[in-house]
Amino acid sequence: MGKPADELLPEQLTIPNLAAAAEDCEACDLHARATQTVFGEGGAPSTVMLVGEQPGDREDVEGRPFVGPAGRFLDSALEAAGIDRKRVYVTNIVKHFKWVARGKRRIHQSPNQTEVLACRPWLQAEILVVKPKVIVALGATAAKAHWAGAGSLKCRAWEPRWWPLCTRPPFCARRIGKPGRPPSSPT
Ligand code: SF4
Repeated sequence: MGKPADELLPEQLTIPNLAAAAEDCEACDLHARATQTVFGEGGAPSTVMLVGEQPGDREDVEGRPFVGPAGRFLDSALEAAGIDRKRVYVTNIVKHFKWVARGKRRIHQSPNQTEVLACRPWLQAEILVVKPKVIVALGATAAKAHWAGAGSLKCRAWEPRWWPLCTRPPFCARRIGKPGRPPSSPT
């Protein structure tokens, strides 16, 4: 295991500096089986930040977030909403692809709490640079990383409002109230 991620943060916080520093991150085991670090990209600063769980198979190969099937779905959703993807910032809770082999396929596995916590300094630094007013948590892991098991994700210098977009409504209903509706006072 390498240095903790917070010891790798660059002095000057910019997205290119952070992305370059994260290339060498070995703060948890996920780097070992992934092709490369997949850092966030998009507008910085930006009003909206979209946070998914982790890069998928395609993202791992291309080194960019949301370029696989989930990315195509996201693109069409943004287009339908009249939002230019370049004007939002997209990233993931963890920056390396976690997978298990099934035949010739690499099947995604959700990161565990240790991995989510290890990667948190990168996400916190992204929030500080992007300064979003709203963070949309795409799916259960992203919502959980903020509201549940991994503890509340706070940035002292910037406190955006978190908004869950559930892909598994029963899970979110148990954790954070009605599907698609954030708690009245997100922390
Ligand atoms: S998942 Fe995050 S903490 Fe773990 S090695 Fe990758 S960048 Fe570092």
